[in-house]
Amino acid sequence: MKITIIGTGYVGLVTGACLAEIGHDVFCLDVDPRKIEILNSGGVPIHEPGLLEIITRTRAAGRITFSTDVEASVAHGEIQFIAVGTPPDEDGSADLQYVLEAARNIGRYSNGFKVIVDKSTVPVGTAQKVSAVVEAELAARGLSGSAQHRFSVVSNPEFLKEGAAVEDCMRPDRIVIGIDDDEAGQLAREKMKRLYMPFNRNHERTLYMDVRSAEFTKYAANAMLATRISFMNEMSNLADRVGADIEAVRRGIGSDPRIGYHFLYAGVGYGGSCFPKDVQALIRTGGENEQRLRILEAVEEVNHEQKAVLVRKITSTLGEDLTGRTFAVWGLAFKPNTDDMREAPSRRLIAALLARGASVRAYDPVALHEARRVFALDLHDVPEQHARLHFTNTQDETLAGADALVIVTEWKEFKSPDFNHMKSVLKSPIIFDGRNLYEPDAMAELGIDYYAIGRPRVE
Ligand code: NAD
Repeated sequence: MKITIIGTGYVGLVTGACLAEIGHDVFCLDVDPRKIEILNSGGVPIHEPGLLEIITRTRAAGRITFSTDVEASVAHGEIQFIAVGTPPDEDGSADLQYVLEAARNIGRYSNGFKVIVDKSTVPVGTAQKVSAVVEAELAARGLSGSAQHRFSVVSNPEFLKEGAAVEDCMRPDRIVIGIDDDEAGQLAREKMKRLYMPFNRNHERTLYMDVRSAEFTKYAANAMLATRISFMNEMSNLADRVGADIEAVRRGIGSDPRIGYHFLYAGVGYGGSCFPKDVQALIRTGGENEQRLRILEAVEEVNHEQKAVLVRKITSTLGEDLTGRTFAVWGLAFKPNTDDMREAPSRRLIAALLARGASVRAYDPVALHEARRVFALDLHDVPEQHARLHFTNTQDETLAGADALVIVTEWKEFKSPDFNHMKSVLKSPIIFDGRNLYEPDAMAELGIDYYAIGRPRVE
């Protein structure tokens, strides 16, 4: 089938690549010429395991194209995926300007029946707005009501996880499709069924529903996951006070199948491009509909405080004034296996350490390039602080002469370091671990002063 993907970010690029991999003819559009240039010269603008290989293969087979040509992109696809960003507006609601711009372009250049798929995370009622925008553009071309230029707007929210996006896309738990019941909707349903057939071969994964429920499902899913994280973080803070071990508690409750083990890790708060903005947007939708979402308000508040948990532990151990101290920081991306720094907890932590006079030497296996860009913006107004932030090319280089190691992201390669070497190069053997990677007993035996999240210190 001929597919157009509008927006080649984390979602659009992975979706386009996976659809090309299963045999479709995919045209990827982006307004950012830099991204298209990288893609057309054989690179990939984001870090996502397995993505480069698929793109290289499908491009060689002639099944994937990258372009900034809007008209050609609309002409190409019988199915048009909108996968552009929906960042938070000033009031926390989802900013739909990019989605509606994509819709305008489809209406402006449409050359036949189009299935328009909202893949971006958008609030309930957005499909209707997209429909109205396309309709208005068709009307401006004198094509209102034209049988040839009919269209149907479908909601098909994306559930992939950054860092495992290709795997999630190729083996989805479920495919949610919200579709209208009218004649164009029936046609769209047939096309969506054909499109996703290879993913449904062994068992049917597609859940068909009405458009509004599909739009809502995405927000409800992210809100639930964010709730579990904030719940565990709050439990870990209490565990710290009462002397319980949150890791034992996690195993104790996760073994109940009604609870399960997923998303039960205490840490430094959730970040990334989805949970923070989607929780906010859902709270906002609640407000617009006179339904206060008190649980989610608390989830957000707890998360905000949790992002400062490591700084609290550091200052209560080493004092408020950190002038002259140096911290080694391991992990900058908001989670492992990605270079995404959006809302990453490392940003608040590092800014707080620098503001208290410390120097920071930071390392991340793949996010260094993005981190350099992001911190240059974050610290633009405080050049004196920016000058105290250094990035290193290996995790080892952060350690020499540092007053403590701080772990922010749970990359696999941080799990079994050479502790004896670490002790020999750190100025003082202290670890503040925001991800509970090590065992307090083992750390005590090694003579390392170890501060974790919700775990008693062993002297
Ligand atoms: P992103 O910022 O990585 O990519 C969006 C891309 O759209 C950018 O490259 C941008 O240049 C491009 N763009 C903007 N306007 C355009 C236009 N008019 N025409 C063509 N291209 C345009 O965003 P993302 O992380 O891929 O997220 C996209 C959507 O998917 C968001 O709504 C997000 O909430 C949702 N989502 C993201 C994830 C994730 O893990 N990143 C997971 C599920 C859902």
